[in-house]
Amino acid sequence: MLELKIQNLSKTYENGVEALKNIDLTISTGMFGLLGPNGAGKSTLMRTIATLQAPDQGSIMMGDLNVLEQKQEVRKILGYLPQEFGLYPSITAEDMLNHFAILKGIGDQQERREMVAYLLHQTDLYDHRQKKLKGYSGGMKQRLGIAQALLGNPKLIIVDEPTAGLDLEGRSRFLNLLGEIGESVIVILSTHMVEDVKELCGQMAIIASGEVLLNGEPAKAIDALKGKIWEKTINKEDFKDYKGKYKVISTAFVAGKPVLHVFCDTQPDDGFKPIEPDLKDVYFSHINNGRTVI
Ligand code: ADP
Ligand code: MG
Repeated sequence: MLELKIQNLSKTYENGVEALKNIDLTISTGMFGLLGPNGAGKSTLMRTIATLQAPDQGSIMMGDLNVLEQKQEVRKILGYLPQEFGLYPSITAEDMLNHFAILKGIGDQQERREMVAYLLHQTDLYDHRQKKLKGYSGGMKQRLGIAQALLGNPKLIIVDEPTAGLDLEGRSRFLNLLGEIGESVIVILSTHMVEDVKELCGQMAIIASGEVLLNGEPAKAIDALKGKIWEKTINKEDFKDYKGKYKVISTAFVAGKPVLHVFCDTQPDDGFKPIEPDLKDVYFSHINNGRTVI
C-alpha cells in the first residue's frame, strides 16, 4: 500500500513563528483528516507536501518518491486545492478546467474534453459549465476547486479547509464528492471542524501550535476516552469553581446554562453523569488540555 511518510519536519517563518515542530506522520491510502484550530500549521504542512514551500528540516517520502527533492514528479501525481484560490471572473468553468488540464500535461484534446465533462458531471456543475465564474456561489466555486484538483487522476490529493464557508448542504455535497474518490489514493483533508473528520476519515491527526497531539484512527481515539468523560449542567456563577477544580474540556450552553464536559478517570462527584465520548471530546481533550473554548 502507498504511504506518505513525514519525518521530523520543522518550519520557522522569518518572523520567528514556529509553524511546524518536528512533525512525524505516516499517512496511508484513504481519507486522512488533519484537524486543528486556526494557526495550528495545517496550511504550512499542506503547502510543504504540495512542494510549494521548503521546510527547514525533515523529510517527506511517498513510496520511493522523495517529495522535497523530486518536485516535478510529485506535481504530476498531485491534486491540490489551496485554502484560498483565485478564479478568473470572466471565464467559464469549462474553459478553466480545460486550461488546467493542459497545464497538467493532458495533451490529447479528446481525452481532455472527456475528462473535463466527467468532472463537471461529478461536481454537479455540468449545467453551469458555460457560465462565467463571477456568477458562481461559494459552494459552486469550492466544487470547481475540487474538480480542478481531481484532473489527471492524482494519486495524492490535498484539500485545505475545503468546507470552510460552505453552508450545511454545500458541505455535505462536497464531502460526499470527496468520499467517492478511490481507495487507492491518498487524500489529506484539513479542517477545524470535527464533523468533517467524523463523517469521512479513517485516519486522522490533531495538530496545534505546530505539533502533532494525536495520530491514529478516530474510532480508537474515541474508545480510549470511554469511561473518562463526564457531563454536568451547572449554574453560571459556579463556572469558575468548576474550572479550577476539574479538567473541563468543553462547555456548551443549553437554555442559557453551561453544560460541562470533564475529563476524569473516575466520577468527579454525584452530579456528573457518564457519557459516551465522541470525536468532539477527543478533539477538545487534546486541544484545550483543561482550558475551555467553545
Ligand atoms: P493553519 O492553516 O492551521 O491555520 P498556518 O499554517 O496557516 O496554520 O499558520 C501557522 C502559523 O504560521 C500561524 O501562526 C501563522 O500566523 C504563521 N504563518 C503562516 N504563514 C506565514 C508566513 N508566510 N509568514 C509568517 N508567518 C506565517
Ligand atoms: Mg490554513
